[in-house]
Amino acid sequence: MFRKVHLYLTMLCAGITAAILVVMSLLYLYLSEKGLYENQYHSFQNDISTIATSLEQQSVISMEWLSKMEARGGYTFYVLDNGIPFLYNQLINLSDSSETRVLLDSCLKTYKNDFEYTFIEEELNSGGRYNTCFHAEFPFNPNGKPHEFYAGVIELGKENSSLQMVVLSPLDFLEKQIFVQRIHFLAIDLAAIFLLTLFSFFFTGKLLEPIIESRKKQTAFVAAASHELRTPLAVILSAAECCRDADEERRIKFLDTIKQEGEVLTSLVNDMLSLSASDSQNLSIHPVPTELDTLLIDAYEAFEPLASQKKLSLTVSLPENYLPPCTADKERIFQLLSILLHNAISYTPEGGRIELSLQHRKSRFYLSVSDTGIGILPEDRKKIFDRFYRVEKSRSAKGHFGLGLSVASEIVKLHHGTITVAERSGGGSIFIVMLPT
Ligand code: ADP
Repeated sequence: MFRKVHLYLTMLCAGITAAILVVMSLLYLYLSEKGLYENQYHSFQNDISTIATSLEQQSVISMEWLSKMEARGGYTFYVLDNGIPFLYNQLINLSDSSETRVLLDSCLKTYKNDFEYTFIEEELNSGGRYNTCFHAEFPFNPNGKPHEFYAGVIELGKENSSLQMVVLSPLDFLEKQIFVQRIHFLAIDLAAIFLLTLFSFFFTGKLLEPIIESRKKQTAFVAAASHELRTPLAVILSAAECCRDADEERRIKFLDTIKQEGEVLTSLVNDMLSLSASDSQNLSIHPVPTELDTLLIDAYEAFEPLASQKKLSLTVSLPENYLPPCTADKERIFQLLSILLHNAISYTPEGGRIELSLQHRKSRFYLSVSDTGIGILPEDRKKIFDRFYRVEKSRSAKGHFGLGLSVASEIVKLHHGTITVAERSGGGSIFIVMLPT
């Protein structure tokens, strides 16, 4: 299921970023191409204006000058002197049917339709007596395609003679430039989309990791919980079955067993409920100023009988000087001490010692439960706070499901404290809980 979600998220993430990238690229290309054509048109207009001024100033038009201007702008010139093709044009094939001639004629036709009237007006206004120079530039697309040529026509009237010059600037070099630019953008976009897809795959994978992890934990939790619930339930059912035909004495024994297993089940279900509440952020605490030394004495008094029963010595050590109250949830801290003491009693063999102590240093309280028990191997010290984790050798301990320390660490977290476990000098374990004042 997560594989599908991962792929879907990757596609979604990569798709959206790729779409934004493509739209931005297209916008950039549009603006850049528009700018290229505009710049070219302006520079063409400037050149026509320069040529017109030069023509106006020159009394004789040299062929050398014309070909120099032509080569500089990549233009094609067509000069008519009093309507007759100028000698210069004899170098290019301008027979009636030649391609260039058709092109130039068509250009002149466009000019006549759109501009000649303006030039005649100007000339009429001057009475044909003065020198007149008129030039016009326009986009010229003889084949109906966009951006074929920029064309310019210069009309020069000198006394009784007239000179007409057509300048054509083919735009195919710009088209080539634009085509190369588009190919570059396409390649860059494709590479970027590929990288974005890889990144999205990696990124969404990282995002899903905690969800997958939590899902795995949840499944493991449910599986382990069902497994743990099965044993006491099986004992209860078989004891209830045996009750039917048992005599009075045995029936009482079976009922005791049912009660004991019921208590075990209740404690297991309570622990599971606490952890599930903590997972859904519903495990709340009600912190009030609490005298931790009093709480430790209460815990000592509650567990002393059980310790004596197991022939263990339980002692409590408290600081002699005044202790400020600690803002904590009394019931939860008592539950935490109960878990630690219950474990210490369970994992310490007869004749052992258990010590409950409290210290206050630098605005912090340190509660510790140490025992002379079986101890915990360094490699197990981190794992024992995991749900349902039990060290192999203690698996048989009755009523221990590996949830106690998980609940303890959730309680400590809610109090913004820490819980650590270490080896007690001389053997056994020591659990230290730090609580801020
Ligand atoms: P359990 O209910 O099984 O004790 P806990 O979460 O309280 O579950 O503890 C997890 C495991 O850590 C225990 O199964 C036990 O193996 C180990 N453990 C906890 N406390 C002690 C201790 N004081 N001495 C030795 N081992 C301990």
